[in-house]
Amino acid sequence: MSTGSPRLLPADSGLAEAASVLRTGGLVAFPTETVYGLGANALDARAAARIFEAKARPSFDPLITHLADAADLEPLVGPVPPAVAALAARFWPGPLTLIVDRPAAIPPIVTSGLDTMAVRVPDNDHARGLIAAAGVPVAAPSANRFGQLSPTRAEHVVRGLGAAVDVVLDGGPTRCGIESTIVDARGERPVVLRLGALPVEELEKVTGPVTIRPGSSGQPVAPGTLAAHYAPRTPLRLLPIGSPVGAEPAAGDGVRRGYLSFRDRPADGWAAVEVLSATGDLTEAAARLFDALHQLDAAGVAEIVAESVPDTGVGRAVNDRLRRAAATWQPAG
Ligand code: AMP
Ligand code: MG
Repeated sequence: MSTGSPRLLPADSGLAEAASVLRTGGLVAFPTETVYGLGANALDARAAARIFEAKARPSFDPLITHLADAADLEPLVGPVPPAVAALAARFWPGPLTLIVDRPAAIPPIVTSGLDTMAVRVPDNDHARGLIAAAGVPVAAPSANRFGQLSPTRAEHVVRGLGAAVDVVLDGGPTRCGIESTIVDARGERPVVLRLGALPVEELEKVTGPVTIRPGSSGQPVAPGTLAAHYAPRTPLRLLPIGSPVGAEPAAGDGVRRGYLSFRDRPADGWAAVEVLSATGDLTEAAARLFDALHQLDAAGVAEIVAESVPDTGVGRAVNDRLRRAAATWQPAG
């Protein structure tokens, strides 16, 4: 745990200072439309190394490189396959990460030694302004310690990373609230490597049918292979899709439990309740997911019981995050 605090700056007036911190090898957390990113100059191996250190992220987990504009892609990486160019043209700026060949200018630490690189243009004016002002591509994973809940507010970053980050740009809560969809569109049929804020249905309108890589939907390929990730500190138990609201007893055994509901409030007895979307809107539910989990985590409950959401559109990515958050849950005793 790092002690002390980072410099917390408003996203508009603090942008120039944050850009200069990036240029000189520092770490800047910044808002995107998905979650807050922990950025470093992607051309600088030492700066990128600081990301892994600050997050306690294993060195084999590659970073996503962020650009200010879709027009910056080919000058950095050279010509890309037509399907990659078509997806970038349609969805950038936006929550879609594409796989391309790693150019020589990007040091291997950024891609964890892979000869491919993940890249996107975020749909957030502060993020794009920051990257443009820094004048370099910006490597940025989510601005949380490895395996923990993703940050959707500046205060989540300050609490989670402390002085391990130099500057936090506060641009308010993020719009999508869930990470980007990652697609490898270099081959004949695009492969979704991670479900995310851009629904598969939207992708398929451009590319035709895609393959979803086994494991990327949060379903273990084999028992025990589902890595815990996106997890609150409190044990989280996930109810199957279609379970009635409050199907679980709130108490009775003296245990304080929190409840994460999709749309309806459960009966009394829960020590804390978070409703993702009272109107049953999946986009709103995705935007609120991590903030609700942060709240339940801070409520001092012994267990969080979470409902699954309808498994369609961005709901598939919400369920993916919930399954991973629940991956280490064990029945008590
Ligand atoms: P995060 O930035 O924390 O949302 O995580 C970035 C995700 O991008 C990780 O799950 C990586 O496995 C994935 N990723 C980054 N680079 C590549 C790449 N070259 N090929 C495949 N996946 C990648
Ligand atoms: Mg992450």
